Amino acid sequence: MAQNSSCRKRPNILITGTPGTGKTTTAAALAEVTELCHINVGDFANEENLTNGWDDTFDSYYINEDLVCDALENLMEEGGNIIDHHACDFFPECCFDRVVVLQTDSSVLYDRFTKRLFDCPRGYSDHKLASNTECQIFQVLLEEVKENYPDDIVIILRSDSLEDITKNVETLTSWISNWSPVV
Ligand code: ADP
Ligand code: MN
Repeated sequence: MAQNSSCRKRPNILITGTPGTGKTTTAAALAEVTELCHINVGDFANEENLTNGWDDTFDSYYINEDLVCDALENLMEEGGNIIDHHACDFFPECCFDRVVVLQTDSSVLYDRFTKRLFDCPRGYSDHKLASNTECQIFQVLLEEVKENYPDDIVIILRSDSLEDITKNVETLTSWISNWSPVV
């Protein structure tokens, strides 16, 4: 448990999942309760100009992964960060003490997409709607997580309802308060 965390006083958590599963909502709520620092990677990359052109799949700028990792290195070393991002493969394994994969029932997710409630500035086209709700991305993302992180730090949480968010924030808050660095 909590490998490579000896330098950190507080844990780093990755919250990942398909767009619309509630990463930003969950991360923001968790940050408020725990006083950990919420870093929305897309926003951070945009603010710091660490982008490389447009990613049509996610309707956002391609993130320059190396530059983002470099820019976050010191903060990650210190610990106490909630990283909110739809991909997980560019952060080194040792960065995280917990990797949370949010999953939402496809019909629920479809409703969120059609209402365009999530933080995508242009909304999704029908084509993207279909491909994103096909569940494909769930599996791809989960495989990516499993390839990159040890099983014992990965947790899959349902995010269908507001009750789920409350429950997930409680689960993670209690995990954070019980976390201690490996000495
Ligand atoms: P993400 O950051 O994963 O793209 P957001 O946190 O931006 O997702 O949430 C997308 C939209 O769906 C928001 O309007 C949010 O209020 C809503 N939402 C997210 N998770 C849930 C949930 N578990 N139950 C109900 N609504 C949710
Ligand atoms: Mn988001």
